[in-house]
This record gives sequence, C-alpha cells and structure tokens, in this order.
Amino acid sequence: SNLTKSIYYPEVLDKLQRCFGLTSFRKNQLETIIATMTGRDTLVLMPTGGGKSLCYQLPAICTSGVTRGVTVVISPLLALMQDQVEQLNRKGIDVLYFNSDQDREESARVASHLRAYGTGNKPLIVYATPEKLQHSGEFLSILKGLYSKGLLARFPIDEAHCIVKWGRDFREAYKLLGRLRDEFPKIPIMALTATATEQVKTDIIRLLKIKDCEILWQSMNRQNLFYEIRSKKGYIKDMVDFIVTQHSNETGIIYCQSRKSCEELAKTLRDQYRLDALHYHAGMISADRKDVQARWQTGRCKIIVATVAFGMGVDKPDVRFVIHRDLPNDLDGYYQETGRAGRDGKPADCLLYYSYGDAISRRRQIRDNRDTNHQEKSHQEEELQRVVQYCQNDVDCRRTQVLAYYSEQFDHRKCHLGCDNCSNPQGVERHDVTTLAVQFIQFAQAIVAGGERVTRNQFLDAVRGSTNKAIKDKNLHQHPHFACGKGTSRECAERLVDRLDAMGIFDSVTVQNGEWGSSYLRVTAKGDHFISRGERLTIEMRAGTSKRPTTNALQ
Ligand code: ADP
Ligand code: ZN
Repeated sequence: SNLTKSIYYPEVLDKLQRCFGLTSFRKNQLETIIATMTGRDTLVLMPTGGGKSLCYQLPAICTSGVTRGVTVVISPLLALMQDQVEQLNRKGIDVLYFNSDQDREESARVASHLRAYGTGNKPLIVYATPEKLQHSGEFLSILKGLYSKGLLARFPIDEAHCIVKWGRDFREAYKLLGRLRDEFPKIPIMALTATATEQVKTDIIRLLKIKDCEILWQSMNRQNLFYEIRSKKGYIKDMVDFIVTQHSNETGIIYCQSRKSCEELAKTLRDQYRLDALHYHAGMISADRKDVQARWQTGRCKIIVATVAFGMGVDKPDVRFVIHRDLPNDLDGYYQETGRAGRDGKPADCLLYYSYGDAISRRRQIRDNRDTNHQEKSHQEEELQRVVQYCQNDVDCRRTQVLAYYSEQFDHRKCHLGCDNCSNPQGVERHDVTTLAVQFIQFAQAIVAGGERVTRNQFLDAVRGSTNKAIKDKNLHQHPHFACGKGTSRECAERLVDRLDAMGIFDSVTVQNGEWGSSYLRVTAKGDHFISRGERLTIEMRAGTSKRPTTNALQ
C-alpha cells in the first residue's frame, strides 16, 4: 500500500519489532503514525483497547519524521501516566513525567533534564498533566526553548474529549490546550479519544484549532462484548447467580449510582454470598481508593462495586463482566463503562438491570438538582430518555442502538447473536406504520416551517398528544398534526422515530447555545421523497409485550 511506500515506513516497522516486540499494526495505527510523522495534525477515534498509546509512543522514538526530539504527551491521569512510564522504561525508552504529585526537588530535576536536552540526545517522551501546562510557567518556557531549537516533536493529547465543556469528563485545564496551536504553530497535535459523537469530534477540532487534521476513524463496535438488559426485580439473586455460574472467580465491575449503594451491595455480596467484592467511590480517602484499585488490578480482589468515579484509565485486560446495577447517565457513559470489559479481545458480558422506577427517580433528581441550570437539566433529561429507550427497546440490536448514538450505522447481521435482542428466539410482530410515518414527517416539516425547533422528546410528546409546558410554549398543540399518533404506544412512536432516523429522513441539528449544544429534530429532503414514492413502512415489535410500561409516565 501507499503507507508501506512511505519514507518513514522502514524505521517505523523496525521500531515496532525491536522496541515494542510486536509484529503488525492494528487498524489505523500505521495510518496515524505516518500522518503525524509527515507533520499533520491528527484526530484518532479508537475504541477502548484499540491501541491508542502505540500511535504516539512509536513515532516518539523515531528520528526520521518531519519533527523530532521531545514528545509531550498530555494525559489526565496520574495512575495511567505512571503505568505507561514504567512500561516504557522497561523497553529502554527515555521518558519523564511532570505532574502535581511530584515534590519540588523532583520536578526541578525533570526541568533541568529538559533544559539540557540537545540535538545529540535520544528521542524523549515527557508525560504531563494539563494542569501542569496551565500552572507551570517554567514548563511552558522550557517547551518554548525546545521549540526554538527545533527539538519539539509533537503533542499527543490523550482522552481529548475532556476538553468538551458539557461532556462527562470535562477538565478545566484542557480548555487551555487550544493555546498549543498558537504558541507552537508548527508542532503536530494528535488528539486521541474513544468518545466519538459528532458533537465531541467537532468540538475537539474547534477547541484545539486543528481544522485541517486527518481524522482516523474506525468502528466503535466491540465484537467480543455481549450486551444484555434484565429486569431489576429481584436483581441481587439474579446477579449472584450470574456471577457464580458464568464468571466464577473472574474479574468484574459492578457500577452503582450512589456511594451508599456501592458500600451496601459490596457488603451484601461479601457477607451473604461469600463473593470477593470491595467498594470504590470518590468519597473514600485517596489511600483507601488506591488500595482497593491496586488489589483489584492485581487480582487479589475479584469484584469491584463502584460509582463512575472508577473509570477513565482503568486498564485491566481481563475484565470478564461489567454490570450496571442502576441506569447509566447517558449512552456514552454506558458505552465507556461497558468498554472496560474484555480489553484482551476475549468474550465478556455487559449486563444492565433496568427498572422503570429508577428512570422516574432519576428524572426527579435531575429536575430537583439546584446546581444545574435549565439547559443542563434539559440536556440531562434528553440523555436519560435515550438510555430509557435503549433499555425498553427489546427488538433492535443493542449494537445498532448504541453505535447510532455515535452516528455509526451498524448492520445488525454483523452482531452474530452478540446481544440479548439478536439472540432472542421469541418472535416479532410487524406493524404497518406507513400512514403514521407520513404524518410524523409532515408534522416535523410543519414545525420547522413555522420557525420552531423541537427536540426528539418534545416531538414524541407532541405526536402522542401530551400538552406539557414545552409543547405549549412552542404552540405545538395548535398544529393540525398535533396528536397524530395518539393511539400509538410511546414505544412504537419511539421505534418509528428511530427508524426514520436510520433511513436518513429525520436528522438532528446541533445549535450551540453558549457552551451548550442542543440537538433538534430536522427533516431532510428524503422526507418528501418518501411521501411521494408512497412506499410501505413496517416496524417490528416483540410479540406479546404490549403490557410493558410505556415511558409516558416519565413526562
Ligand atoms: P487504548 O489506549 O486504545 O485503550 P492501549 O494503547 O492501552 O489501548 O492498547 C491496548 C492493548 O493492545 C495493550 O495491551 C497493547 O499492548 C496492545 N496493542 C496495541 N497495539 C498493538 C499491536 N499492533 N499488536 C498487538 N498488540 C497491540
Ligand atoms: Zn445484536
């Protein structure tokens, strides 16, 4: 291929084998490495376990690229940083780190080492937290010195989605990374993340000022994970049974919403069922947290019962199951948390216990939270609604649903019975929804034509004839098509909107509102085509499940 003809390829291949002891590249690794060595900015979207580290560690030790010398890796996590530093040391690679855990003496040593760095030196990797870059004027001036001598190689930015203000992992200091482009115009930036919604992608590019970057995108599908939703009724017995029969003596994570439920569940599992479980949450003192994580990491404790504080940077290859005892906050969180299972590529299970009551109480929490403004609340409610829909959809492939959240179209036939819905033998019923579809499209068109914007959930409310505040504010209840789907279950209406989405008839536009983005429903030109062609549309519902609660009561 063109890549193997690149002038950088011989050195890249040589270092892959000799320094990393590997024989071949995974998807997009070589592409990324060659792009950054030619001096291009890159945005690397790779699922967890995809091999992001190699994308910057390997070019860092090459000397044939356009830029060379010191690679400055921005990484949010101390633990991960130490881990990587140790691994690189063992490979004989020169590496330093710069973070707020160091004492004065240590960081002075690192600083003087960097100042003394010259043309004749071996390539060097420096790990730094974004806070260090923000607060240490000294560090910045050292980097400028290196830059003026042509000794800065590149800036890999790990977990680059932390720059996104409304995202779940936002870090204040990441915002300042936009300065890198201004201060070091010629140094390639490499942004890496496993969070790949369109909005995150756009924001990373905008905030890091890398608009001409090469985007290395790959499917977020994790083939070795099995996804399943179960009813939460009597979940403890079910959970214990699941662990004992399918994952006896294997490593797992159980996520809970609250600190208290982590402690209680871990205790119950230990005391009543003799399982090897410990809790972990942000309310514990740092030493205890470190101790629990270390025990789990080294296999001295099998099951960790944690809040989402146990997250980014958890890097254990042989996690065989991830259980969500409670609803995740959003589908991205769910994807990231389940993604910690099976990093070694071997089969692993992702199990979520769903109860409708959980959804209602979460909704109440969001509304009653005094620390969030109206926009944040409605954003959180929309996200919650997507999670609830996901849990209630017992027909469509889980992968198709989750990946659709990342705007990725996934053909369910490639799931290979890898989720509960695809492997459910119970039949489905087909419903002809052609008339309803036409009404939905016309209603959505009319709303937009009238100069209004609706979110997906407001639209679902409106077609089912709900007259809540948002509906009245936007005067939707006066529309001729209002309540056009009154006789339909919320579930069916949701399924139809999903389908129109998948067909490219519905689409969403993001409107930036200060630091917040809101997604609104839009109808594409395909809407008119669909209506004029007069084709039939059917959707599938699981047979005999009409008694399930609808999400209606959530409104
Ligand atoms: P990510 O940061 O994308 O989650 P890592 O960089 O931690 O993933 O890599 C995950 C695992 O895959 C590591 O154990 C790493 O050694 C391994 N790995 C990465 N690239 C390759 C490769 N080309 N061949 C074999 N193993 C690889
Ligand atoms: Zn499936």
